[in-house]
Amino acid sequence: MRIVPMALAASVLLASAMLSAAPPSAPDDTAWRTLEDLTTEVGPRLAGSDREAAARDWAVVRLKALGFSNPRIEPFTIRGYVRGAEAARLTAPFPQNLAVTALGYSAPTPAGGIEGELVYFPTLDALRAAPDGSLKGKIAFIDHAMKANQDGSGYGPFGNVRRVGPRIAAQKGAIAAVIRSAGTDMHRNPHTGGTGWGDVTPIPAGAVSLPDAEQVARIAAKGKPMRLALTLTGQTKDNLPSGNVLAELPGRDPKLPPILLACHLDSWDPGTGAIDDAAGCAIITAAALRAQAGGKPLRTIRVLWAGSEEIGVFGGADYGKVHAAEPHALAMESDFGADRVYGLRTSFAEVNKPLHARIVAALAPLGIVEQGGEVEGGADIGAIRKAQKLPVIDLMQDGTRYFDLHHTPDDTLDKVDPAQLEQNVAAWTAVLRIVANEAGPLNGAN
Ligand code: ZN
Ligand code: ZN
Repeated sequence: MRIVPMALAASVLLASAMLSAAPPSAPDDTAWRTLEDLTTEVGPRLAGSDREAAARDWAVVRLKALGFSNPRIEPFTIRGYVRGAEAARLTAPFPQNLAVTALGYSAPTPAGGIEGELVYFPTLDALRAAPDGSLKGKIAFIDHAMKANQDGSGYGPFGNVRRVGPRIAAQKGAIAAVIRSAGTDMHRNPHTGGTGWGDVTPIPAGAVSLPDAEQVARIAAKGKPMRLALTLTGQTKDNLPSGNVLAELPGRDPKLPPILLACHLDSWDPGTGAIDDAAGCAIITAAALRAQAGGKPLRTIRVLWAGSEEIGVFGGADYGKVHAAEPHALAMESDFGADRVYGLRTSFAEVNKPLHARIVAALAPLGIVEQGGEVEGGADIGAIRKAQKLPVIDLMQDGTRYFDLHHTPDDTLDKVDPAQLEQNVAAWTAVLRIVANEAGPLNGAN
């Protein structure tokens, strides 16, 4: 953790208090209204579906009503996943049903399903160590030990069970793969999410809920052969319609490059995508508006409600391509639920260190503390950030319960705490008031 020397912090606080003409952040209900209405009036918004299209139309109307300029759709097409019938049943040694969901880009089983010997692997590494061809005609079960962390860091290594586990099983000859969901709850809600195949021929791939995974582990420990019947009839489809929604709040100096704020509009389909990621869209939009209070900022603020993030960050990639030649000042993304911001990281170059110090000081009254480690930026701003070496700011949210809900039927509005949602808006507004009023160049360190 980096510590700002006390004398410097004090002088920065004094300077920012003198410079800041804006009134203190007064709570309003824009974020909650946006979140409630998107999750209620549109509901689940699977990438490439007609509900995602409905969400884009809804977003244009809403952003216009909120006072944004030029709300518009930038269309593109995707390879998406259309969900079908889903069922899993252990047929031996102790017959019983398992709560399962298909992973995005799973291959379909026949309508009547498939059945095979189920081979238990306690970890992804154990699967990797299995000899080539050893899973021929069999179904792989991949377990893991993801636990909740405040910073959500478990999703990297344990999420790989979902991202690459099925592909590795397919390479070893498996006819299907089933994983323990990448989640941290103990409810019979399987967590969906995308998986990747590279140049390997896809096989049916699903995730069971955590209690079901523990049941499979206990049964495997008895040492008797297990068999699984699996039906996953969803299909991968090409050329599905998707798109990004963009809008701006113009700044006083339209020649200055804009501040880009991103979230994603699509969601997985079991829930209504309240925490992932309607909350992110609600937070950035409410903060962009609140930053106008007390006078229009110097720089334009652009919001990007990206499409088809979940199945492969198509919206972020399209934005990076379409807007490659257009200078940007800085990018930020909100895509980690609605719980409180506890930490921040920035990637400013040395020349912007005073600006960094002002941001740290402005967030301190909200209990937000600078954290060590590399900035993450976010998936949807990844392409434009890389192309333009943009500085990014991470406002790090408490992820302790995020993976209890993530990609499950339980990702619904009632899980959002309005007070924590408001703290997010206050934090984003505080940052925007500084960066959107900064006239000098904003440079990224990497
Ligand atoms: Zn997300
Ligand atoms: Zn997600």
